[in-house]
Amino acid sequence: MRTRPVTRCGCQTGAAKRCAGSLRVDRSGKAFRWSRALVKGGMRLTESQLDEISAQRGSPTQTLRATVPALENLLFTPIELLDHGFLRVIDYMGDDSAIVQAARVSYGRGTRKVSEDSGLIRYLMRHRHSTPFEMCEIKFHVKLPIFVARQWIRHRMASVNEYSARYSILDREFYIPEPSQLAAQSASNRQGRAEALPPDVAQRVMTMLRNDAMQCFSDYEEMLDEEGGIGLARELARMNLTLNTYTQWYWKIDLHNLMNFVSLRIDPHAQYEIRVYAEAMLTVLRAWVPAAAAAFEEYRVGAFTFSAGMLAVLQRMLAGEAVDATNSGLSKREFAEMMAALKPTT
Ligand SMILES: Cc1cc2nc3c(=O)[nH]c(=O)nc-3n(C[C@H](O)[C@H](O)[C@H](O)COP(=O)(O)OP(=O)(O)OC[C@H]3O[C@@H](n4cnc5c(N)ncnc54)[C@H](O)[C@@H]3O)c2cc1C
Repeated sequence: MRTRPVTRCGCQTGAAKRCAGSLRVDRSGKAFRWSRALVKGGMRLTESQLDEISAQRGSPTQTLRATVPALENLLFTPIELLDHGFLRVIDYMGDDSAIVQAARVSYGRGTRKVSEDSGLIRYLMRHRHSTPFEMCEIKFHVKLPIFVARQWIRHRMASVNEYSARYSILDREFYIPEPSQLAAQSASNRQGRAEALPPDVAQRVMTMLRNDAMQCFSDYEEMLDEEGGIGLARELARMNLTLNTYTQWYWKIDLHNLMNFVSLRIDPHAQYEIRVYAEAMLTVLRAWVPAAAAAFEEYRVGAFTFSAGMLAVLQRMLAGEAVDATNSGLSKREFAEMMAALKPTT
């Protein structure tokens, strides 16, 4: 944490105007800047929305509070997700030092080294001492398909304010998956996908999704139309919209609960469409609280919890016994999960 006044915006004055645009996350999870022109071409943000972001990034203020330059660089800028969605950081409170300060109930930064701080953060994470992580908070603006929002809203330990379709009219924007994401129903996992559909079948599905969404949206518009149409109340007309219609919200959460969200939704068992948002959040976490993010990836994302029964099986295996699903004492599924976790990653 800094003790001198610093700017709240990561941009240098003068360069700020050039900062508006959005970010893309590449396959390694690294964010890179996306040009304003391409964003506009993709219809993700309007010119006036981009101007608002430019204005916000162009008016830094002085503060004594903790700031994180890497997160300041991301501030306000949309990270593009799916075909029309995004995630952008609107505000945040705290940094890695805030976690350490709270754990030590200290008065200031103290004299300890960064390595001691990250050692403490790793200890807290390992032993599930969660309250110091609650001292950091972050606020996102998220644009996401309604069916993703339904999964997202199950995470109750957050504050949310959604765009009101009772008050406003939604945009004609639907999520249409990439053909590679149009997969058959998984036989082994009732909540999962199997292999991708053949290209011609995928095209048929995409046409159905697009046509149905367009038809429902046209009917929505006709129902709403007060001049020549029906003039139905917005709160009623919206029920005709398909679940792939995009909605938006502001979502504020503390770091502890954010890590709970990310660990559940970045998991391969989570649906791809929410996973991409969790992956973007992990990118944000790495920029915001690098020590906490590293501990989180070590002890949560990359870790596997052994049950007492699994541990007993592992001990028997290490002692040289041939243990299989039938003599393990575990259910077939639990044994398979354990063996999958023990399989070396290439
Ligand atoms: C892969 C996957 C599949 C899922 N499938 C289904 C499904 O088929 N059907 C379905 O309904 N849901 C499903 N869910 C949602 C899941 O059951 C949780 O509701 C969701 O992940 C939110 O988790 P959470 O309760 O930990 O988060 P939060 O609601 O953010 O809560 C965080 C923590 O706060 C505590 N807490 C919060 N509220 C309460 C409370 N009222 N009482 C006690 N403790 C509380 C708990 O410790 C909780 O872990 C699925 C989730 C995932 C990731």
